[in-house]
Amino acid sequence: MNQEIIHPIKGFNPHTFLDWEGKIACVIYLPGCNFKCPFCHSSELVINPETIANVDYAYIKDFFKEKKGWIDGVVIGGGEPTLYKNLPDLLRDIKNKGLLVKLDTNGTNPMVLKQLIDEKLLDYVAMDIKAPLDTQLYAKVTASNVDVISIKQSIDLLMSRDIDYEFRTTVVPCFLQKKDMLAIVKAIKGAKKYILQQFDPKDTLDKSMATVKPYLPDELKQFAQLVSEFVKQCYVRGI
Ligand code: SF4
Repeated sequence: MNQEIIHPIKGFNPHTFLDWEGKIACVIYLPGCNFKCPFCHSSELVINPETIANVDYAYIKDFFKEKKGWIDGVVIGGGEPTLYKNLPDLLRDIKNKGLLVKLDTNGTNPMVLKQLIDEKLLDYVAMDIKAPLDTQLYAKVTASNVDVISIKQSIDLLMSRDIDYEFRTTVVPCFLQKKDMLAIVKAIKGAKKYILQQFDPKDTLDKSMATVKPYLPDELKQFAQLVSEFVKQCYVRGI
């Protein structure tokens, strides 16, 4: 990696079968986020990353060497990884080790996304779509000011390039109803894959979310059925 300034990595999960379907992967967690989604489960990483111990990248590199041939790739999560200044350097280093890369992103940095795709540094992108592409709705669901044009640019970019991707929405009952799910899916019409994620009220950034009752599994399945005609593949995760 570029040795000038190396920003801290804040977490490392050596093994996951859940974060990248069909792959054995590890996860690197990067600090900070430009959203403050009330239902976020990474509140320390988002709000107080300085309170979390740094993970030395030298340790991660030793792990890659030791596990060569046993892991398929690395998931880059957060927080919002596209805010991380060393992201292209980090991904180049991982790709040079022969590992695949999956990026988890909220889609607010289409220019960074484009640079990473152009440089062939990504093998899979999972992009959150938090709400219909309406400034006020997006602001409500993310508790942040959002430029929805950037979100739209990231959607268009992923759908127009030769890259594997999924769009995904955490379906939180107090924010998203049937009409919202239809509005979201119409904004990604023709997409390869759309995942509806079950909302988990435990350990959220905004503690008042603990009182929000998740949709029943059958209700989520009905949403998936409703929106599936607009995309190539759609299913529910987390039920
Ligand atoms: S859910 Fe994702 S986008 Fe929202 S605050 Fe947490 S890390 Fe950021």
